[in-house]
Amino acid sequence: MGSQTRESHAPLTRPRYLLATSPKEVKQETERALAETRDMLDALLAVEGERTVANTLVPFDDLLLRVSEVSQQGDILFNVHPAKAMRGAGDEVHQEAQRFLTELTLNRPLYEAFDAVDAEDEDEDTQYALFKILRDFRQAGVDRDEATRAKIQDLRDEILAIGQEFEGNIREDTRSIRLENAEELDGLPEDFIAAHPPDGEGTIVVTTDYPDLFPVLQYAHREDVRRRLSWEHLNRGYPVNMEVLDNLLARRRELAEILDYDSFADYVTEDKMIESAQSAEAFIDRITALAGSRSEEDYEALLAAKQKDNPEARRLEPWDRLYYTEKVRAAEHDFDSREVRAYFPFEKVWEGLLTITSKLFGVRYESVEDIPVWHTSVRVYDVFEGETHLGRIYLDLHPRDAKYTHAASSGVVSGVLGIQLPQNLLMCNFPDPAKGEGPALMDHLQVVTFFHEFGHLIHSILSGQRRWAYNTMSHLEWDFIEAPSQLLEEWTWDAETLQTFARHHELGDPIPTELVERMRGADALGRGLAVRRQMFLAALSLNYYVRDPEGLDTTAVAKELQRKYDILPWYEGTHFQCNFGHLNGYSAIYYTYMWSLVIAKDLFTRFQTQGSLLDPKEGDRYRRLILAPGSARSAAELVETFLERPRNFDAYTDWISEVPGRAG
Ligand SMILES: [Zn+2]
Repeated sequence: MGSQTRESHAPLTRPRYLLATSPKEVKQETERALAETRDMLDALLAVEGERTVANTLVPFDDLLLRVSEVSQQGDILFNVHPAKAMRGAGDEVHQEAQRFLTELTLNRPLYEAFDAVDAEDEDEDTQYALFKILRDFRQAGVDRDEATRAKIQDLRDEILAIGQEFEGNIREDTRSIRLENAEELDGLPEDFIAAHPPDGEGTIVVTTDYPDLFPVLQYAHREDVRRRLSWEHLNRGYPVNMEVLDNLLARRRELAEILDYDSFADYVTEDKMIESAQSAEAFIDRITALAGSRSEEDYEALLAAKQKDNPEARRLEPWDRLYYTEKVRAAEHDFDSREVRAYFPFEKVWEGLLTITSKLFGVRYESVEDIPVWHTSVRVYDVFEGETHLGRIYLDLHPRDAKYTHAASSGVVSGVLGIQLPQNLLMCNFPDPAKGEGPALMDHLQVVTFFHEFGHLIHSILSGQRRWAYNTMSHLEWDFIEAPSQLLEEWTWDAETLQTFARHHELGDPIPTELVERMRGADALGRGLAVRRQMFLAALSLNYYVRDPEGLDTTAVAKELQRKYDILPWYEGTHFQCNFGHLNGYSAIYYTYMWSLVIAKDLFTRFQTQGSLLDPKEGDRYRRLILAPGSARSAAELVETFLERPRNFDAYTDWISEVPGRAG
């Protein structure tokens, strides 16, 4: 049964950059696409007479769609393609498309054309798209004189290149420590020790990559091993990124000042839900206060555990947090995170995720076998509602050399009603069932990450069915983007949901309710400390972009903010700011994760009033009122419509105040 026999309101286009077979093809396709879009732009600008939606918004939305595709797919190639030359070509065309997008935002005649469109009789979606387009033009500086606009373009190009350099320096600086013997790995899981055998001279190498770093920080009994690896981890990108960061902050400040903002933080928060740098600071302080007593209780519990090992210890160090969190969870809350792994073989989790989201959102997935992709492990599915084709998803889920090392969801093709269906990709690094003979067991944390990223992916498919590309998810307020993904995480903490797929890989029995309860109870331990750490990061990101970069000592600011927001001390001699990659992509707005979480907790209250989280009633409302609108309404309006009341901090406050070991 081919998909062409089904009803579909738009075609599935081929992602031609992503699925190109040579760097030459990537570049040729890009050249052709950019030349075409320049022609479309000329034609749009050449229109004489009255400006209408048909002769202005329609062609603009279409050309934007094409340029964004080059940018998105180029960036994906850069992140996941196995061939170095293809990654290079991807990076090149991504930057080229980005420069063109900047050019568009500074195109004065284009802005004037939009300004002249009479939108009064248009529908609400169209009016909102036009409102956002005009706002974005003005925010970019389109109404400045020509010399200023040229300066803005140069600055933006420069910032783009500096940012790539900053992140590249981090990615390329994997560090390691050498251990003298296997005893130094005391406490680590057996499979970890087996995967790190001594070399010919008896030396064991442990790196700062996540699959090494986190187990060491969580389980290594030897404090000096945790301390030494932390040192390397927190010094990645140092010293080279000290200057790169100074440069990044200075150029962004310069841009903000040209645009008449006091700081880059003021500039970048203006079109977000939070609206200003000042409210971002107030939010960070509010969350820090809410976490206050929980974080102090966490600190006392962890310090007491440390003092059992070492009666001389007077304080917790940065490399103690994860280790003693695990230890106290095991000793006092009867939970060892290694215990649940047996219930999460990769394939079962994947099947469960498909079944649960099918039920919640009323969709179904069909495996697509016959298309060539960039790597044999990539899975492809078509998403349907009944017989209606909604879009296509690509899943690149396992680690390999030179691949992106975190977890993310990325648009491949934006969906527009009647034009083309949405396509989206997940790039993750989960255990690979095709490697070795094991069942590829996942940590619960990885299961949470899987649901989180799938939340982004399904949002992009379900929001890609509207009239304008400018109303898809990519134009939604950035500080709302994480809410749908964080909301979907909630299902991974629910026993009834987990029991639909989490079965013991040897015994076959579903995960016991009692074990899930213990896991939930233990999860609250350490939450206060983790939130304080997050608020330190948020304050750091904000303050770097609020303060005057002239003569700014980034290390001194980091220490000052760590004292104010975190409970744990700064690790003297380290330079975390050199490897905090979000200082580029997120700039001042790292607060968005916690802001979205407050909203996600509030949204979840609607589901909690149902008898079962698997009841599709709220799922359907949520799909219609929050996911499907994309960015056709403001995020604040979407949330309030779904909640049928103003949003508030109540659910978040309950969550942060939860006492460990009592969850039920
Ligand atoms: Zn996310």
